[in-house]
Amino acid sequence: MLSPANFNKLRSLTRSFSPKALFSTSYSSANKSTFYHKDLQITKSTKKLELQPKEKLKFGHGFTDHMLEAKWTREGGWEAPKIVPFHDLTLHPASSVLHYALECFEGSKAYKGEDGKIRLFRIKDNMKRMNSSTKHIALPEFDIDEAAKCIEELVRIDSRFVPEGFGYSMYLRPTMIATEPALGVNESNSALFYTIANPAGPYFPTGFKAVRLYADTEHVRAWPGGTGNKKLGSNYDGGMYPSILAKEKGYQQILWLFGEDHLVTEAGTMNAFIFWVNDNGVLELLTPSLDDGTILPGITRDSILQITRKWGEFQVTEGSITMKQVLKASREGRIREFFGAGTACVISPVKEIGYNGMDIQIPLDINDPTSESGPLAKRIYNEIMNIQYGNVEHEWSTVVE
Ligand SMILES: *Cc1c(COP(=O)(O)O)cnc(C)c1O
Repeated sequence: MLSPANFNKLRSLTRSFSPKALFSTSYSSANKSTFYHKDLQITKSTKKLELQPKEKLKFGHGFTDHMLEAKWTREGGWEAPKIVPFHDLTLHPASSVLHYALECFEGSKAYKGEDGKIRLFRIKDNMKRMNSSTKHIALPEFDIDEAAKCIEELVRIDSRFVPEGFGYSMYLRPTMIATEPALGVNESNSALFYTIANPAGPYFPTGFKAVRLYADTEHVRAWPGGTGNKKLGSNYDGGMYPSILAKEKGYQQILWLFGEDHLVTEAGTMNAFIFWVNDNGVLELLTPSLDDGTILPGITRDSILQITRKWGEFQVTEGSITMKQVLKASREGRIREFFGAGTACVISPVKEIGYNGMDIQIPLDINDPTSESGPLAKRIYNEIMNIQYGNVEHEWSTVVE
C-alpha cells in the first residue's frame, strides 16, 4: 500500500515529469500543479440575465451570467481556468462523483458596502480549507492565491448581480467533483473545479429568528478519524433522514452529539457556541475544539474566537461540553446564550434544545422580551457584518477593484 505521503510525492513526481506537462505549449504556465489567474480564458455571455428584484432573492436559488471552471487530469495536471457563460454540466453517467460522492465544496460571500464597493471575506481561508477537503478524497490541490484571484475575477465580471444592502450578498459556491468515467472505487484521474454565484437576500429578513434544536441521541454526523472536519458533500447525506424526524417533532435543526457522554459537536450545518457560567463559576464562551476531527473548522467560528479573544471580556475556550453539563447549567441558571455560527447566517440564535424528552430553555435577551437573539450573539453578528460590508476596515475584507 502506498502511504498518503508517498502517494502525494509520487503524484507530484508523475506530474512534473509528465512529458505532456513539460512540452505542452497550449498555454503559458509550465507547472500544472495549480491553475493560474494569468491563464484565465474569459468568454462573456451574449445573453444577459434580468436582475431579480431584491425581495425575490432566495438563498441558493438563481445564479449569475457566468461561472468559473478548471479541469484537471492526473496525467496532465491543471488546465487553464475559464470564466464562461453559466451552463449545465455534461457528465459521463459513470463519473465517480455520482457513485462514490467524491465531491467537496466551499461557501463564501461577496458583499456590497454603503460605499458601493464589493468585498470578499477571508476567501483564501476557504481555498485553504478546500485543499484539505480535496486531499482527503484524492482530488487535486491548487494554489490558494491563484484560486482566490480567479474567484475574485468571477465576482468582478458578475458584479452587477451583487445586491446592495446590509444582509444582502452574493453567495459563492466553489466546488470540486471527480469526473473519472469509470466505476472502480479508485482515486479519480480527472476532476472539475468550478464556482457558481447566487445573489442572496438576508438570512433573517425580519430580524433574528431563534431556532429550536433537537439534540439527537440516535444518529451521528461525524466521528473521530472520519471526515467531519472536511467540507464534503457526503457529510450531509446521513443528516437528511434524521433532520426529517427532528422537523416532525417540531425542531428546525439537529444538535449533533457524539459518544456516550453526549458531547455537543455541531448545530445543524453550523458550529455550536455556548455562552455560560461554566462549572468552575467562570463566564465563558465555549465552542467544541477541533482536536478529534469531528468539527468543521468554520471560518465564522474562527472569526468569532479571534474577535471575542481580542475583547478580553470573558474566557474564550475551544473545549468540550456534554449534554449533562448543559442540563445542569440550565437547571442552575448558568446558561446565558447558545447559538450556531456559519457563513450563510453568521449567527443563528437558539431558544430551546430538545433532549431526552425534555425541552431545555435557552435565554435570549432578558432586557428585551421581543428579541429573538441574546445580546452577545447580536453584538458578534454586528461586528462581523460591519467588517464584511466595509463599515469597519479589517484585513479579513478585501475590496474587489
Ligand atoms: C460550512 C460548515 C460550517 C460553517 O463554516 P463557515 O466557514 O463558518 O461557513 C459549520 N459546520 C459544517 C458542518 C459546515 O459544513
